[in-house]
Amino acid sequence: MTVSPTGAVKHDDARQARSEAAARRLLLSHAYKGRKRFCPRCRDETVYILADGRLRCGACRYTFHELTGRFVNVGGLSCRDWLRLTRLFARELTASTMAEELGLAYNTVYRAVTVLRFAIVAAAPDASQILFGETGRAMGYDGGRIVMSRDTASEGPIPVFGIIERPDWTFVDLVPDMRVEHVVHFNLSFSLKVARLGKVVYTDRYQHYDALMFCGGDDVRRYADILDRTPFLDTRRGGFWSFAQSRLRRFNGVSARRFPLYLKELEFRYNHRNEDILPILLTYLCSLVPKREQSDLF
Ligand SMILES: [Zn+2]
Repeated sequence: MTVSPTGAVKHDDARQARSEAAARRLLLSHAYKGRKRFCPRCRDETVYILADGRLRCGACRYTFHELTGRFVNVGGLSCRDWLRLTRLFARELTASTMAEELGLAYNTVYRAVTVLRFAIVAAAPDASQILFGETGRAMGYDGGRIVMSRDTASEGPIPVFGIIERPDWTFVDLVPDMRVEHVVHFNLSFSLKVARLGKVVYTDRYQHYDALMFCGGDDVRRYADILDRTPFLDTRRGGFWSFAQSRLRRFNGVSARRFPLYLKELEFRYNHRNEDILPILLTYLCSLVPKREQSDLF
């Protein structure tokens, strides 16, 4: 057991990460939360153990193992490495520092961190809207399959988010049918203030949002003409925008279409900023990857 500076007793995940069996037990406890084993395909609880240790569903005959169909099963990491990596991710280390600390290849770590970010999005209330629309496809979420290298020709429009700030929480909302061209139009025709932070473009208040926000990617400079004055977010002290600014500056390599993963991660971190996020991240990591046909469940 370890004691944090606040005196709270924490999970000794370092000890659990020492052996693969202990790490697996911990992840399974997050996956099932005391529930009986159930089929990841039809959710039936009539499950038989086969001679080789795999499980079979009594209802649909699907053969699986205990972590099949969950985010933790994507990426090829051992349970022990997942546990160690998630701990470093909770501390906001960069992928290259994590790779060094874990002794893993950078690409392996980058892929795992992307899987974690998808798991965070999947736990958000607006998950199905993000994951199953054109935004999800452009991010590399293909109906429940995570595609790391995408065909750039098939990319859709750049997603635009609305930020809602309240004293204690924030909501980062994908605004349906809002296009970057609309933001430019609002700026030119209705004097909506627009500013830029690195590759991120954000506006003044719009309807019930405190800002509209999108990532301009590598051609962010094309929006230079529309930048002016000080949008509402920059007039406030503290809150989500102060929290997000320093972090967004670090996301320099982010592409416009993967940006939702980073923005929803910031929303998650901000809304849980006074909590130990490691157990929450482990629960998200061990949750089922939402499939298209189950989208009505989310
Ligand atoms: Zn089944």
